[in-house]
Amino acid sequence: MTLCPFATHRLLPESTTQPHITPRIAILHSAAGRGSLYGWFKDNSSLESHFWVSDEGLIEQYMDTNRRADANRNANAYAVSIETESSPQATERWTPAQAAAITRLLDWLCREHPDIERQQCDRPDGSGIGWHTMWGSPSPWTPVAKSCPGPARIPQARDEIIPAVIAAGSPSEPKEWSDMATEAEVKAAVKAGVKEALAEEAKNKTKGSLGYMLRGISRAVLDPVEPKEGSKPNAFQQLREQGRQIKSAIGNKG
Ligand SMILES: [Zn+2]
Repeated sequence: MTLCPFATHRLLPESTTQPHITPRIAILHSAAGRGSLYGWFKDNSSLESHFWVSDEGLIEQYMDTNRRADANRNANAYAVSIETESSPQATERWTPAQAAAITRLLDWLCREHPDIERQQCDRPDGSGIGWHTMWGSPSPWTPVAKSCPGPARIPQARDEIIPAVIAAGSPSEPKEWSDMATEAEVKAAVKAGVKEALAEEAKNKTKGSLGYMLRGISRAVLDPVEPKEGSKPNAFQQLREQGRQIKSAIGNKG
């Protein structure tokens, strides 16, 4: 029995009766609806997925990942399926909290089941991470025409989530501030930090001070204004001035 330690376990009866599998693909879906899928899978459907991720980033596990779940047509014998909460139309992106939970879950899956390679799935019967309609629809992964997981989530999976899972498996440590070579890298890091903090603030429904402060910091770093004539430069302006001096010193050395 393979259970994800940071998921809420709500195992379906099928979790002990379906055939054993050794997963080598993980497939992302959108549920086209709100709320846990546990009751739906248990009472209304002969299909099921291994996981469901809420828009707040909560993960429910319905099936042992070494048991077959029926959500992916021909890939059921070797795929782990991950359903995700969405609007009925599923046209929106995964929320930041949801994307983080999906990335963490995929990272765990790749470590727990090393046959799932850290790559975008290479073939319908290959290995890696994919999304339901990545081979079209109908296709080996779906008998019907559909757009799952949706027009915004497909590029988000391909360009953000899968690269993040690949990066999480690489041995190199994240860069320290002092090793960041370019202004663009520093900006990107600050932007990501501010975005994350603001998302956290929105999630906790707190208002005001933190967001105000962070926006101020991001403005100062991303778009610092020159100090007024005769006034003392603030910390960011000093930092930038130091950067300019270092740059010109290096430049002068030729
Ligand atoms: Zn789907």
